[in-house]
Amino acid sequence: MEVIRRSAGVGRRAVLKALCVIWLPAARANNRQGSEPAVSRPLRIVIDPGHTPSRGGALGVRGIYEVQYNDALAEKVCEALRSAGFTPILTRAPGKEMTLEERARLAADQHADLFLSLHHDSAQLRYLEKISVNGHDAYRTIKPLQGYSLFVSQVNPQFSKSFRFATLLGNEMRQIGRTPSLHHAEPIAGENRELLDETLGIYRFDDLVVLKKNDVPAVLLEVGVITDPADEAYVSQEANQTRIVAGIVSAVRRYADEYSRP
Ligand SMILES: [Zn+2]
Repeated sequence: MEVIRRSAGVGRRAVLKALCVIWLPAARANNRQGSEPAVSRPLRIVIDPGHTPSRGGALGVRGIYEVQYNDALAEKVCEALRSAGFTPILTRAPGKEMTLEERARLAADQHADLFLSLHHDSAQLRYLEKISVNGHDAYRTIKPLQGYSLFVSQVNPQFSKSFRFATLLGNEMRQIGRTPSLHHAEPIAGENRELLDETLGIYRFDDLVVLKKNDVPAVLLEVGVITDPADEAYVSQEANQTRIVAGIVSAVRRYADEYSRP
């Protein structure tokens, strides 16, 4: 989620591997001219790394912008989905700009079955202190604030399927030992989100553009809180990223089992 809006500045420029399908205008045009996909084809899942290089989202405790966490995880998710036999479609390559509306339209244009936006979380400023890391600004939580969050929009025309996928995803996160942070439900300015499932950390957030303007079932996952030192350390460890990615793939597989049967 974009809580602190700043430029991502000069960060690590991730190398995009060839395993993910990248959306390009040419591909979109070709697809539109083609026929409708067969019902038995592999599920097409749009993976959306939140934010862009110029608007990097939350600034974490190590002075790294959220977009870099999102890009790195999205690449791993795409690779794992591809290996599992699905067709992942990445909205935005690392280093590229893209509007929220373009991301939402992409799923329909690409005849996708599912849309998952990947983010890393922060908190309201009242829960943060500004620190300096190697001469750069960073933000740190003033109290422990850890865990994941899931968001769905009831404005999305496929809300019930969106909620179902969020449920499957929440179950997977719980199974790998994650707990929902629940801080978005606090009755304070900027939060106060309605919890649809407190145990699984699923919130209703109708106005999120990538969810509400999406024609396909859409979910936004906040993987962890990067302003919290312990949670940032958790999501930065490769073994934990592997667990998170496996959980996402498992949720997609379960969703496919429920909805892909002819
Ligand atoms: Zn974000």
